[in-house]
Amino acid sequence: MAAASPNEQAIRQVVQEVLAQLGKQMKVESKKPFRDGDWGVFKTVDGAVAAATDAFEKLSESPVAHRVKAIECVKQICEQQAEELGRAELEETKIGRLDHKIQKLKIIKLVPGVEFLRTDAYSGDHGLTVIEYAPFGVIGAITPVTHSLPTLAGNVVNMVAGGNTLVVNPHPSGARIACEGVRRFNQAIYKATGLENLITIVETPTLETAADIFAHRGVKLICVTGGPAVARAAMESRKKAVVAGPGNPPVVVDETACLENAARSIVTGAAFDNNLLCIGEKEVFAVESIFDELLETMSRHNAYQLDARQIAALTDVAFTPPKDAKDHYHVNKDFVGKDASVLAEAIGVRVPAGTELLYGETDESNPFVPEEQMMPFVPFVRAKNVNHAIDLAVEYEHGFRHTSLIHSRNVRTMTKMGRVMDTTLFVKNGPCAAGLGLGGEGYLSFSVATPTGEGVTNPLTFTRVRRCVMVDDLRVI
Ligand code: NAD
Repeated sequence: MAAASPNEQAIRQVVQEVLAQLGKQMKVESKKPFRDGDWGVFKTVDGAVAAATDAFEKLSESPVAHRVKAIECVKQICEQQAEELGRAELEETKIGRLDHKIQKLKIIKLVPGVEFLRTDAYSGDHGLTVIEYAPFGVIGAITPVTHSLPTLAGNVVNMVAGGNTLVVNPHPSGARIACEGVRRFNQAIYKATGLENLITIVETPTLETAADIFAHRGVKLICVTGGPAVARAAMESRKKAVVAGPGNPPVVVDETACLENAARSIVTGAAFDNNLLCIGEKEVFAVESIFDELLETMSRHNAYQLDARQIAALTDVAFTPPKDAKDHYHVNKDFVGKDASVLAEAIGVRVPAGTELLYGETDESNPFVPEEQMMPFVPFVRAKNVNHAIDLAVEYEHGFRHTSLIHSRNVRTMTKMGRVMDTTLFVKNGPCAAGLGLGGEGYLSFSVATPTGEGVTNPLTFTRVRRCVMVDDLRVI
């Protein structure tokens, strides 16, 4: 073999140096900080809880500034990787709309963090008492398929701000994206703070793993976001539970309403992510005198009106009828969260491009009214007057005390409806999202605690109130 020229030798040396450098870097990058679990993704509940417990101890010894950094990591990833993560969530769950999946991640920045915490104090002749908001420890979070990663990310922001760590049982149909989010969040948090496993997740979640979390001694609080079955299970568990349960939000429109605004708002709210939001407008009760005009106005806002025959056909494909007198209609999951055009095609109707919502007149017995259907079809029911409309709204909200809406300029009517509905969110003259601070005042969270009463969750929801008392001293005035 011929001897290498000085030029070749120089090139070889550079290549060797680069390879050596790369080798060093690869060693650093592949040095996983965890023996068990891949950046927080665990096979077992026990493994996840043990890691989250260890993380809680470390977080407790860390400055609050580390919580701030961890939250910044989550918010930044949600903002900067929204497109990729939103697309992955849609591909996995196959429900909702890409533009709104992306938007739901981008707005995680609006979820309140450490700045929401406060210290209260009493000072008097007997000294000084400080009220502080202390963490619970490891929180078990159960998340829905309708907004898998956004709910998880919102929970992380609130819970870590309160000084807690999490073990998450995601919905099985949204578990892949939830695990990917957890990996990315933990990697960034580790890099920023050196803290590991602030968020842990069960890789293959089942009802059994959810039950294990409910029963685990290491889990100090549970927070479930989901439908009736999981809400019931959490309320029956022996742990304190924050329950963000199901809804079936009714909208009342009276004769004083601005119909243009009402129609625009109903389309905006109900079409959002193809009506997957628990706060989304699910049925409308409008008074007789403006009913036809309201239907007409809807058609100017990217909504398409179905006639009675078409609604009957859609109802047939969208629901399975009750088996017996005790049963109720069941939604056909194939149509949940699908585009309006897909629903329309299923009954042989072609809708104009850009149609976001289907709607039409039904009576109150149509299953689209009582069932939480999560499809972009909104039934409109004719009411004799506003009192009748409010009575119907109360009946079909089913006492979930979740969300209700009214379009009216009559303050007395609004007050009456607010009182009788007794819902956690009561939105007047806007789309449902206004209730979460999106176009209305207030802050954002994707977990709205309804039966347990905490409302739109925030960092204080996930803290214990601790009173620290000094008798007869430290009062300096
Ligand atoms: P879902 O009830 O089917 O599932 C929610 C979560 O609970 C999933 O992780 C699921 O695996 C788990 N789960 C279901 N039954 C369980 C049981 N018996 N024991 C333990 N875990 C159980 O709901 P979904 O389809 O994922 O989401 C839509 C529902 O969630 C709707 O009813 C909607 O109103 C509600 N929701 C409420 C809020 C809120 O803030 N109040 C937010 C989003 C969704």
